[in-house]
Amino acid sequence: MSKKVYDVIIVGAGFAGMYLLHRVRALGLSARVIEAGSDVGGTWYWNRYPGARCDVESMQYSYQFDPELQQEWSWSERYSPQPEILDYARHVAERYDLRRDIQFDTRIAAARFDESAARWTLTAEDGGTTTARFFVMATGCLSAPNWPQIDGLSSFAGPTYHTALWPHEPVSFKGQRVAVIGTGSSAIQSIPHIAREADHLTVFQRTANYAVPAHNGPLDAKLEAEIKAHYAEMRARAKTTPGGLDIVYSKDSVLEATPEEQEAAFERNWQRGGLGFMSAFGDLMMDRKANDIAAEFVRAKIRALVDDPETAEALCPKNIIGAKRFCVDIGYFETYNRDNVTLVEVKGRPIEAITPTSVRVHGRDYEIDTLVIATGFDAMTGALTRVDIRGRNGAALAERWADGPTSYLGLAMTDFPNLFTVTGPGSPSVFSNMLPTIEQHVDWIAGCLGHAKAHGYTTIEAEAEAEKAWWDHHQEVGARGLKSAADSWYLGANVAGKARVFLPYYGGIPAYFRKCEEVVANGYEGFAFG
Ligand code: FAD
Ligand code: NAP
Repeated sequence: MSKKVYDVIIVGAGFAGMYLLHRVRALGLSARVIEAGSDVGGTWYWNRYPGARCDVESMQYSYQFDPELQQEWSWSERYSPQPEILDYARHVAERYDLRRDIQFDTRIAAARFDESAARWTLTAEDGGTTTARFFVMATGCLSAPNWPQIDGLSSFAGPTYHTALWPHEPVSFKGQRVAVIGTGSSAIQSIPHIAREADHLTVFQRTANYAVPAHNGPLDAKLEAEIKAHYAEMRARAKTTPGGLDIVYSKDSVLEATPEEQEAAFERNWQRGGLGFMSAFGDLMMDRKANDIAAEFVRAKIRALVDDPETAEALCPKNIIGAKRFCVDIGYFETYNRDNVTLVEVKGRPIEAITPTSVRVHGRDYEIDTLVIATGFDAMTGALTRVDIRGRNGAALAERWADGPTSYLGLAMTDFPNLFTVTGPGSPSVFSNMLPTIEQHVDWIAGCLGHAKAHGYTTIEAEAEAEKAWWDHHQEVGARGLKSAADSWYLGANVAGKARVFLPYYGGIPAYFRKCEEVVANGYEGFAFG
């Protein structure tokens, strides 16, 4: 790596790292991005499994920092497929000439803060080092793949693919007996595609998931023109909603609605499709009885879509709807009507072992040729704790977070001066349309760096009291309602041994954005400058 001392080193060249590089350059600071992959795009570089696409509508899942970029880019579908989102990331890299400051194929393994020089030195897996005053982990909330702990996994003789580490070469399932482990969003998107190609597909389901149809299709040219004519207004409206989506959230109570009103509101949202399903009523995530009504509506849909009643029942989730991440599907439930697809439930009777030729459940071997692992991520903290980050007095981030993370606004941590995280734990991040929240964090960090530059500060650090107050508030908000009641990756519950702590901020975009603005207006309240 370069021996030059930079003003800022950014780890990660996904949408966060790319935009931050652009912003930091505009401040006249020198910057270098270090990226483990061979190109930009982050999520959309790694997750190339068949069927991968966004589940926030493309007209909203895009940058808004440059109105010209917004006007010139055209999406082909309502929900763009992964290759098109990757093309968009590449277009952005070219348009803003980003690649000349990005070092690819380099994974950072460690980072040390030198207190006397007030600088960070980063060490890559290949031993190379680089140094900077400021260091930003733009490493993503969903970028550290989670492998299941199943005996014999590495003994499997055929190809094994993790959805988040999908090969760049085409993968063919023709003539294959394929197993998919997992039924989260990645599985729900890939299963219909794999089923169409494979000889036989066996899906191993531990927890059934709620999914709402995408009703995907070519992007309506009239709608595109209409949005482009009023893009700024739409973006502004979206920022007034809890998840940063341009959707009208009803405040009505489902418990006070008649059965006809309930049915009509849910059906309207089902027909619209996508992530806004739960916007039908205001109390669905606050009250279990209210939640059950929405859950039963979706279960009735699943029963109507799946021919075999036993399979339909197994596919009907029994947990709280909306507590785990909602899924958006294209023909997922209908896939189980195919003769070449088998569902195997592994709840309460976990997969015992993977043998060289099979998945073993309850003493039975399911013989397969190809294994697809769709078991998700060590979300929100994994990419941060997988790097050995040492701050003031050798404070180790992974150790400090062993019982769960703490952070001031999901942006900075006490004892880790000059280190920022984009969409870190304690910020809305994965509870939102992520491109706008990434942009808000990047803008905030760039503003803070500009402030430090203007005043000649060499260190910025979150104060312990401010961090604690924010974290206590964040945990208190997270405990409200039903979101914390289910075992989900939002609470770290999907990773063996991970502390069960509420990770993304649940107070909504408007309150969070306001808080960040107030911090700045009050002279970066809660931050110490040196
Ligand atoms: P990432 O895109 O994850 O980029 C982080 C980068 O950091 C990666 O390229 C990684 O290689 C690099 N990195 C990590 N650690 C290191 C290291 N130690 N050294 C060097 N490099 C490192 N969000 C939505 O809002 N809407 C959606 O529809 C949506 N769909 C998604 C679909 C999938 C399949 C997945 C997995 C996530 C989806 N998300 C979605 C969330 C998505 O992650 C964000 O929207 C966004 O792309 C994150 O951008 P990022 O730059 O913050 O992180
Ligand atoms: P995930 O939601 O965490 O799903 C992982 C699945 O694997 C779950 O069904 C889980 O079951 C199962 N699993 C884990 N370990 C297992 C084991 N040992 N045996 C059997 N099953 C096991 O991961 P993901 O599907 O990759 O999605 C992660 C997140 O990425 C999503 O929630 C979403 O935010 C984002 N994403 C979005 C899209 C999109 O539509 N745009 C697509 C993909 C991903 P349990 O539920 O029982 O733990």
